[in-house]
Amino acid sequence: MIPVGEALARVCEAVSVLGVERVSLDGALGRVAAEDVVSTRAVPSAANSAMDGYAVRHADLAAAPPRLRIVATEPAGTVVAGPLGAGTAVKLFTGSVIPPGADTVVRIEDAEERDGTVLVRVAPARGANVRGAGEDIRPGQVVVARGTVFGPADVGVLASVGCLVPVVHQRPRLAILSTGTELVEADEEPGPGQVVNSNAYTLGAAGRAAGAEPAVLPIVHDRREDIHTRLGEALRADVVLTSGGVSVGDLDLVKDALDAVGVERVFWQVAQKPGRPLAFGRLGKRLVFGLPGNPVSALVCFYLYVRPALRRMQGDRRPHLPVVHAALARGVRKARGLTEFVRVQLGESADGRIATPLPSQSSGVLSALGSGAALLVGPPELDELPAGRSFPVIVLGDATLARETPPF
Ligand code: AMP
Ligand code: MG
Repeated sequence: MIPVGEALARVCEAVSVLGVERVSLDGALGRVAAEDVVSTRAVPSAANSAMDGYAVRHADLAAAPPRLRIVATEPAGTVVAGPLGAGTAVKLFTGSVIPPGADTVVRIEDAEERDGTVLVRVAPARGANVRGAGEDIRPGQVVVARGTVFGPADVGVLASVGCLVPVVHQRPRLAILSTGTELVEADEEPGPGQVVNSNAYTLGAAGRAAGAEPAVLPIVHDRREDIHTRLGEALRADVVLTSGGVSVGDLDLVKDALDAVGVERVFWQVAQKPGRPLAFGRLGKRLVFGLPGNPVSALVCFYLYVRPALRRMQGDRRPHLPVVHAALARGVRKARGLTEFVRVQLGESADGRIATPLPSQSSGVLSALGSGAALLVGPPELDELPAGRSFPVIVLGDATLARETPPF
């Protein structure tokens, strides 16, 4: 049995980053940049106005009060050719290019226009209301660094610099193999002693959310040869998740099957709760996670170990889930020697975040991981997590910290 930190380090060491492909901008959201995106352009391409108003030479504003002759009107998208002479102004709009010779924009609110002239009532500072060429992006600038997950702003920046088919890392292919003679498919009515194969759905959804392409294999019963055969098929994927059959019972045949197909065992059993029986191995670059069958254990192991592996394979520079700190609302007893991932709901008080343990901490109660639940990390050296003490809490998704009320 190894500590959680060591288990995660072994998983991360075993990961190789996948190859690259090009995607269209429409498909870039959530993908990971495989190379630095360097702009060949300046954005904006020319100095332009931040306001509706008048482009002027700042030196002309010294007269009291300054009155300037309007020599042209320049809507956004057009360009005035000639340089601005002394005592003149160009009427322009937000986004209009600053005419040569002008250095300042007087806001329309600060001026009065009459008979082809403009009277400047409030003289702004030199350079006011002018957005410089390249103020957003300079030519040669790295606009999105390799390893960045493209968000909406990044996608817009790519469009601005003309990078229409960015290079991203491939998505990992994920095979999901549920083992257990008790299992039935979700469209069957479970009889006495039978259990619906919910793990295939849970893990498929979690895999997709982590950027992988999941494929679910048919259920295999706890029979050595069947597990062996299906595992051989599953190993065509980049990552294989088995569920069930990895504990210490007579029918826990997955470890033997992994050995039999030549998977090198990196570890088996982690000092944690839930998810202690987790097995991890590799076959060349392919990774195999032997997840426990209990639905909570399987999903917690996914979040803790599989997800970072999938993110790293996609080149994500930040493959781990976010962590916040929260004070425990009430004390929790735990086993000394194991890291315990307590299922909690996060809330807020005047003193900061509060983590309330969910009523059921059973590894069979999957519903306790729904509705934005989070995982509070109880360290191995404690046998009780005292009320009021602050602990790290792993944020499992946007729903964990989403709010019913706005912050303003
Ligand atoms: P195991 O790890 O094989 O000992 O399985 C532990 C328990 O997890 C079983 O008794 C089932 O109730 C449950 N279980 C196993 N596999 C699945 C699955 N694919 N979907 C839902 N529950 C499962
Ligand atoms: Mg089983």
